Amino acid sequence: MTAIAISRTTKPKTPPPEDELQFGKVFTDHMFLMEYHEGRGWHDPRIEPYHNFSFDPATCVFHYAQAVFDGLKAFRGKDGVIRLFRPEAHAARFNRSCARMCIPELDPALVVESIRTLVAVDQHWVPRKPGTALYIRPTVIATETFLGVHPSASYLYYVILSPVGAYYREGMNPVKILATHEYVRAVPGGTGAVKAAGNYAASLYAAEEAARKGYTQVLWLDGVNHRFLDEVGTMNIMLRIGDEVITPPLNGAILPGITRDSVLTLLREWGIPASERPIALDEVFAAHEQGKLREMWGTGTAAVISPVGELGYKDRRIVINEGRIGPLTQKLYDAIIGIQYGTAPDPHGWTQPLPTEAFAAV
Ligand SMILES: *Cc1c(COP(=O)(O)O)cnc(C)c1O
Repeated sequence: MTAIAISRTTKPKTPPPEDELQFGKVFTDHMFLMEYHEGRGWHDPRIEPYHNFSFDPATCVFHYAQAVFDGLKAFRGKDGVIRLFRPEAHAARFNRSCARMCIPELDPALVVESIRTLVAVDQHWVPRKPGTALYIRPTVIATETFLGVHPSASYLYYVILSPVGAYYREGMNPVKILATHEYVRAVPGGTGAVKAAGNYAASLYAAEEAARKGYTQVLWLDGVNHRFLDEVGTMNIMLRIGDEVITPPLNGAILPGITRDSVLTLLREWGIPASERPIALDEVFAAHEQGKLREMWGTGTAAVISPVGELGYKDRRIVINEGRIGPLTQKLYDAIIGIQYGTAPDPHGWTQPLPTEAFAAV
């Protein structure tokens, strides 16, 4: 593999106090960079001090959003070991996002190595307090200067790191979600199944409207009939109705969450029936009326598991499990957190510890 050149900062910053950490506001001392040019391929993988970019105003990413990203975390365990959670799965998804947006794919091994090396260089930024983590944001942007609509001839891949605080400061507070019949996040054949930058710009309007009505997140319904559940905010959605856990199938409009996959794997191991099948909003309301809707939660890297306490749709509003976190929701959260922080066994090899030698080598 191409060697990663490392140039270290001469002006290291001081990481903020760990109990003041929020999400994605503070960045570490270094970043990873690599360019692509037609004919040359991806070249010059390197780590440099964190810095601003300077781009021509006509750079195509500013106009047509040919850009993708991913998001994963590194955790520092009680044993001091830093662990990445499922980096290969994130690298593979990152490449699927690239392919869908006509961005030349990267060597997945190099993507993982870029993350490992950068985290090793900035390892003292991985916070120690329970619940905190180092958020990792790999990104690709189209960098050609032109105003025509066609794939760029050049790209920049970069990775930045942000220490993040515990998602739940005062215990897990169930969120209130609003199903929208007016706006859609994705349609089959569109870009909903990948982390394309433009998807998130397109979601803001509905999220703002939900916030004005007192809801925390939007429950996205399918883009064709506005009937079936797709996702919640930037999380996958799961429900427990009777003894069955249900999550919508990966239908081409849903982002294949790695947390979703981890949760499904655990449920099946625990012998809890978990179905990937379409679930209509009508079925959710009917189950609630019959007293069978027991729990509902979102899954995603940022919060891991986010309990849903209230669901609104038009003039309806239902409360789930009396607005409290359900037992299975809590069990899933504890199980995944245990693996991430190295306090529970990791039979699936989901975590990748950074060996001490990796630190010595950089
Ligand atoms: C990132 C993301 C998810 C969750 O994926 P994870 O791999 O679990 O973090 C779900 N839905 C959307 C739209 C996303 O962008």
